[in-house]
Amino acid sequence: MFKADYHLHTKYCDGKDSPEDMALAALDMGLKQMGFSGHMDPPAGVSMDIESYMAEIIRVREKYRDSIDIFLGGEMDCLFDAESVSGLEYIIGSTHTLKMDDGEMFSVDDSEEVLKNNCERYFGGDYYALSKAYYETEARIIDRVHPDIIGHFDLVLRFNDSMHFIDEDDPKYYKTALDTLEYLSKADVHFEINCGAVNRGRKKEFYPNTRLLKALREFGGRIVLSGDAHDKDHICGGFEEAAIKARECGFKSAFVLKRGKDGRPIWVETSLD
Ligand SMILES: [Zn+2]
Ligand SMILES: [Zn+2]
Repeated sequence: MFKADYHLHTKYCDGKDSPEDMALAALDMGLKQMGFSGHMDPPAGVSMDIESYMAEIIRVREKYRDSIDIFLGGEMDCLFDAESVSGLEYIIGSTHTLKMDDGEMFSVDDSEEVLKNNCERYFGGDYYALSKAYYETEARIIDRVHPDIIGHFDLVLRFNDSMHFIDEDDPKYYKTALDTLEYLSKADVHFEINCGAVNRGRKKEFYPNTRLLKALREFGGRIVLSGDAHDKDHICGGFEEAAIKARECGFKSAFVLKRGKDGRPIWVETSLD
């Protein structure tokens, strides 16, 4: 199995376990690399004591450095003030939050009720218009947060299995998604296959969905596998299925973050087999 996970949350944000417990679990699983990606959200989202988080990850990184390469990362929302943080070794750029013309913000993955209410309030109940606004925000992610990884590209579908508010095969939806995907795939960035929602029983499909993943392959995009784990039991969760899905979509390799001889992080292409 592919064993490197860089999308991991701890109790410093909305996860359950400490970084050290996560690292010990990863060591037990035989991981050689892992990365922590605490939430860095705009004020409407999860707030984290970023200074304490970074100090603790560095402590754990140094303690176990002979056994495992631990990377200090962050999951930065597209609307986060990226200039306010320095010292991260990698960034997952994720769009959770939309900002409306009146300055109000809401998250597309908060709850069905929040999504429904805001769709009514700002888009007259038109979910296709809401998804278009989501992808317009997503398209700005490279310029805003300079990510190494694009997180859960089509998170706007978070509640679609239960709400069926969008026909994912309708060009009204997927055309905007594809255009945004193609645009972002030209940048020096990796797209994650995010197993988090599948692992937690929230969705049947990974992010991005099969149609988008096939298109990403055609656009020449690069992938990483992500557990988006919020506890130690889900590190690398779903990776076997994700690797099968990736191969089905034409990918032969995924990327792993390693440490070069000078100690700096480098991305290395690795076979999915
Ligand atoms: Zn996220
Ligand atoms: Zn996450």
